[in-house]
Amino acid sequence: MPSYRVVAVGDRITDVVRKTLLSPGYGHPAHTEVAKGYGPCRQCLRTFSVGHERRILFTYDSFHGRENLPLPGPVFIHEDYCERYPEDGGFPVDMLSHKLTLNAYARGRRLIAQSYVSNGLIEPELQRLLAQSDVAYIQVRDTDAGCYDFSIERKSDKQDLDESNRSNGGDSHE
Ligand SMILES: [Zn+2]
Repeated sequence: MPSYRVVAVGDRITDVVRKTLLSPGYGHPAHTEVAKGYGPCRQCLRTFSVGHERRILFTYDSFHGRENLPLPGPVFIHEDYCERYPEDGGFPVDMLSHKLTLNAYARGRRLIAQSYVSNGLIEPELQRLLAQSDVAYIQVRDTDAGCYDFSIERKSDKQDLDESNRSNGGDSHE
């Protein structure tokens, strides 16, 4: 069993996106299309079948519920219902072949370490970051696209954030 939890976008948010085709909290129109890139789907953390699977693009704040400072950005999910990636499923296999950025944050969204992994050897890097006591959580981003993929937390931090039951950000008036 992995020592960490993989935190994908929760059902409460994806249900609203699929039903309303709006970004929860923000109200930005969500965009549906046939996948032009591999993604992944931020709910099931599988890569899209380019040119075949349909996906929805919407605005998501990966820090909402965790930090006071928002940082919304674009994410994709499957257009049709999919199963949220299990938190105890270990690092998602579909992601290992991509260039990934591991952003390790302390509380207060203080970025204290950043690692770039492109050889699939993610575990030693994760263990190194999680061994630092001031690292509260890690956000995984696609290095080429820069977009948020999912978060990683220590198992003992379960009380911190229940992703499956949280809302999105969207307090801005831009
Ligand atoms: Zn999916």
